[in-house]
Amino acid sequence: MENQDRAEKVLAHAATLGTSGRKLIEPNQVPVDNKFIEFCKTPQCPGYGSSMSCPPNVKGPDWFREYLKTFDQVLVFKFDVPTKVLLSEERHEVTRLIHETASGIELFALANGFARAKGFAGGSCKQVFCQEYLGCRVLSGTGGCRNPDKARQSMSGMGVDFLELTKRLGWKMEIITQTTNADEVSMGMMAGMVLLGD
Ligand code: SF4
Repeated sequence: MENQDRAEKVLAHAATLGTSGRKLIEPNQVPVDNKFIEFCKTPQCPGYGSSMSCPPNVKGPDWFREYLKTFDQVLVFKFDVPTKVLLSEERHEVTRLIHETASGIELFALANGFARAKGFAGGSCKQVFCQEYLGCRVLSGTGGCRNPDKARQSMSGMGVDFLELTKRLGWKMEIITQTTNADEVSMGMMAGMVLLGD
């Protein structure tokens, strides 16, 4: 099967996983900016330093820029999520969904000939998959990841400028913070991506 046909097949699979939107783009269309890893640090995200999937334990933007160049296409997916959910504890369930969708698409892509498929998610895997454990097993050096089929590295940790990316994709993204009024801005989004390459 031709590369593009396989990519379209993976895209169709992403739709079956319930994603609200999904697109294929060229790797050079993914904006990467080093300043985003600073945002992980200040104000410090609860996920910072807590797992092997987030800064400072990931390779980061300079590495990611070069890594991207070795892929053929990038599948970006999103879930539209009510602001009320994003501002509640339920947001962890959405984070879990992003990780599971990125890994699910990655596994499907691997099975369809993209031997180097690599998924990236948003949010800390420690918070959603290993909350009941004291620490990340990889980080402590006591073993492998407890959730290798689900947990994926953070896009923010790679410096992906998601606001700029959504503009390029034609997706309208609202920035949701703790001060956002859910009655005025009713919907936000969470997203992930899978790099596709042989
Ligand atoms: S062991 Fe847990 S915290 Fe560590 S990388 Fe895996 S899922 Fe994340």
